[in-house]
Amino acid sequence: MLYLSSFEFAEKTKILEPENYLGRCDHRRCESVAKTSRSVTSPSGNPSGVGGAVRLLISSIMMSADAEGADMMCCASCGIGQVDDIKLKKCTACYLVKYCGVKCQKEHRTKHKKGCKKRAAELRDEILFKQLQSNHLGDCPICFLPLQYDRNRSIMTACCSKWICRGCGHANQMREAEEKMAKKCPFCRSPVPTSKEGVDKDAMKRVEVNDPAALRYMGIARYNEGNYKSSFAYLLKGAELGDVGAHYQISLLYRDGEGVEKDVKKKVYHLEEAAIGGHLGARYNLGNHECRNSRHDRAAKHYIIAANLGHEGSLQALKKGFKAGWVSKEDFAAALRAYQAAIDAMKSPQRDEAEAFVALQSTVN
Ligand SMILES: [Zn+2]
Ligand SMILES: [Zn+2]
Ligand SMILES: [Zn+2]
Ligand SMILES: [Zn+2]
Repeated sequence: MLYLSSFEFAEKTKILEPENYLGRCDHRRCESVAKTSRSVTSPSGNPSGVGGAVRLLISSIMMSADAEGADMMCCASCGIGQVDDIKLKKCTACYLVKYCGVKCQKEHRTKHKKGCKKRAAELRDEILFKQLQSNHLGDCPICFLPLQYDRNRSIMTACCSKWICRGCGHANQMREAEEKMAKKCPFCRSPVPTSKEGVDKDAMKRVEVNDPAALRYMGIARYNEGNYKSSFAYLLKGAELGDVGAHYQISLLYRDGEGVEKDVKKKVYHLEEAAIGGHLGARYNLGNHECRNSRHDRAAKHYIIAANLGHEGSLQALKKGFKAGWVSKEDFAAALRAYQAAIDAMKSPQRDEAEAFVALQSTVN
């Protein structure tokens, strides 16, 4: 095989990721829906590291909630003030009220439940609908350009679990071929395994040290072997360790009832976790989910966020929404411009060269 080593093996086999499923909403129902013109929160100055961005975002939202409740220094149930040995603790769902203890919190539950749920949902939406600055892959660590959300254009290495762009992979291969050098990982320079067994061995080493990306790789590999229960176990561990892709794969297992019971709530939860981390396929699936439930304003927000980062399916969905009347002309035009800018930012002569090379190969083969 001419292309890089690595997780590409798994990505090329039957993958859990039928992106076309995402197109299941044909938007016919949407056409009857009244026009809603909503815009998405404007981009913020988050750092490009996605995990960092999400953490920053969560802490800033918590801080704003903190500010709201800052003057609330009494237990919401018994009214006791925070003095000396009495320490009040915030309700960790809504951050709006404080209690002197578990007993008071329990007693107050029936009164507080409704408002708490509402505020918790608002906080979740603030995080969910924040425009990110990059998809979950971030930048290529070699050329520092944003990575493309396309498993044919971005490659993960099995040795060091780094996503790199096909341009850098291709340039490395060409150099090795010209100088008759041994094949090495373009990032960490470890020798590249030449068989699937070698790739699996590399990945297993990383699984043993709980590398979340390697756990996802194993989850997908087990899935492809038909071992859904084991697939779920690997993916869940990867997701718990913060792997955005693993959350996405789990959402598909819950959708299809493979290795787990079908569960829409859990499917949506994992889609949201993945989307918050910048997974564009998950974002698009959420858009479709909202569309199927006729919540077009929410659907449009999801599609706009993904289209702004260069997701074509989401741009197409917005186009349909515009024709059907639930996306405003301004929002569609802005998303189109942002989409184009994102695509341009991901271009480089090296990537074009790799693309041309692969296209040439496919005509030869
Ligand atoms: Zn109390
Ligand atoms: Zn609460
Ligand atoms: Zn690169
Ligand atoms: Zn490497």
